[in-house]
Amino acid sequence: MTNAGHLLAALGSLGLPSEWRTTVVLCPQSRLITIKIRSNGAVAVLVPTAATIERVVKFVSDRRSWINQQRERFELCAPRYPAKALVDGEPFDLLGHRYLLRLVTTPPGDIGKLPAIAKDGILYAKPQRPDVARRAIAGLYRDGGLAWMQQQGRPYEVDGGISGLSYAVRNLGRKRWGIYEGPDKHLVTMHWTAFALPMPLVEYVFVHELAHATQPTGRAHGPQWRQRLRLWMPDWRRRHADLLGMCRHAWFGDCRSGDTPKPPL
Ligand SMILES: [Zn+2]
Repeated sequence: MTNAGHLLAALGSLGLPSEWRTTVVLCPQSRLITIKIRSNGAVAVLVPTAATIERVVKFVSDRRSWINQQRERFELCAPRYPAKALVDGEPFDLLGHRYLLRLVTTPPGDIGKLPAIAKDGILYAKPQRPDVARRAIAGLYRDGGLAWMQQQGRPYEVDGGISGLSYAVRNLGRKRWGIYEGPDKHLVTMHWTAFALPMPLVEYVFVHELAHATQPTGRAHGPQWRQRLRLWMPDWRRRHADLLGMCRHAWFGDCRSGDTPKPPL
């Protein structure tokens, strides 16, 4: 009977790349050898107990380039959420402007409290634990984002016959950039990290939700809603596609202390 340890040792003779983290799983019920690429890129070889070592080694050896291709594809598609390093010079994007972080213990010049963004393109913040700093920086995004929504929303409210609409900014996890809750709440909420996106995408998220707030008849993303969006943002489909492409690599607010070295570029 085939032994997983022996099989793995035999596969070792193929000199498989260590990043494959190859494992062998015996499947007594199965008759076919199968290769599975895990979402973390690890390679599992599923082997029926009746298979001989030679057959398994040949099977894997023959599919080496296929495994490589699959792993590359996974790598391209896998989400990779960057974390901001809390060190001087780290860039933070907010509403189409880039600010470079500068850690200071007291607010400089005419700045009242920290964190704060200054006209010179600097985001001043206290050196703090990542979770505390993240909360403080999130507050900055929340305030800036909310003011932007209230100002930008006004013409849409008038044009779309929307009345009594409220706005909010909070953490919406990693799956949503914005939501509209209605009709009781009648509330458009945006994720605080949405304001770090390029401006065409910030606008798209906002206008998408405002179109819901007009409470069109029919399905949530049905013809009436689409018609409204087309009117307000003729290129919304392209922005939607851009946003989907960006979601896997967007910053979702993760911060790490300056002690962690940056990965090489
Ligand atoms: Zn929607």
